[in-house]
Amino acid sequence: MKIKVLGSSSGWALPRIGCSCKICSSTNQKDKRSRPSILINDSILIDAGPDVYHQFLRLEISKVDSIVLTHSHPDHIFGLHDLIPKKFKAMKGVPIHGSEKTWTTFNRLFPNAGYKKEIFEEYIPFEAGGLKFTPVPVVHSKSAPTVGFVIEDGNSILCYFSDFRSFSKEEDKKYFEGVDCLFLDGSVLKNPFPVWTNKWGHISIIEGIKLATECRTKKTIFTHIGHRTIPHDDLSELLRKKGEFYPAFDGMDLQV
Ligand SMILES: [Zn+2]
Ligand SMILES: [Zn+2]
Ligand SMILES: [Zn+2]
Repeated sequence: MKIKVLGSSSGWALPRIGCSCKICSSTNQKDKRSRPSILINDSILIDAGPDVYHQFLRLEISKVDSIVLTHSHPDHIFGLHDLIPKKFKAMKGVPIHGSEKTWTTFNRLFPNAGYKKEIFEEYIPFEAGGLKFTPVPVVHSKSAPTVGFVIEDGNSILCYFSDFRSFSKEEDKKYFEGVDCLFLDGSVLKNPFPVWTNKWGHISIIEGIKLATECRTKKTIFTHIGHRTIPHDDLSELLRKKGEFYPAFDGMDLQV
């Protein structure tokens, strides 16, 4: 599978307006992060946050064949307004795969958008762009039920879990076992967020390293990288010492 990272930030793009922290004042292009999204095999888009229009322009993407949604938080679906088939003819007939709940929110926000609706059920594999997607429910948000995807092309297995506090069932750890590449929530470095609950929100990078190590993933890329982390090069250095762990960056290309 060919992967392109369109965006690698958490809910808000980096730098944040008016902030002078180390990340926001960094001159490294890799510290400029837009909302999280990846493109697989030049044709399957996972999530479409508010920056998707400019991601398409910047990376010269003019068309996708299917869109797959993890959940209905703004950083994952608000960009779909800019891609609506009425305005963007290449989107005509493009199916959007989402859960029933994601579609309910989507329809309320963008009624009559003209997208082709495809509903998936948790744990039931579906096909998009010739790949097998298994949606695995995760603990992340009460109001926006969230899934991560296990994506298979017959040769390799990619997991995309951008918004993740924990699995909803302990036994679901099996989905990470020995996978070729795991994209995992990198919103915060040390303490899971928010700290006052263990029911929702985001795992920390430190915990993510433990989980991925336990599951013997071959390679783990942290994405959805937020403000409570460290600049790209420092993070890259920290992760390198732990094994096959890398921070994503906007425009990153990889082959899985
Ligand atoms: Zn998110
Ligand atoms: Zn900052
Ligand atoms: Zn979210």
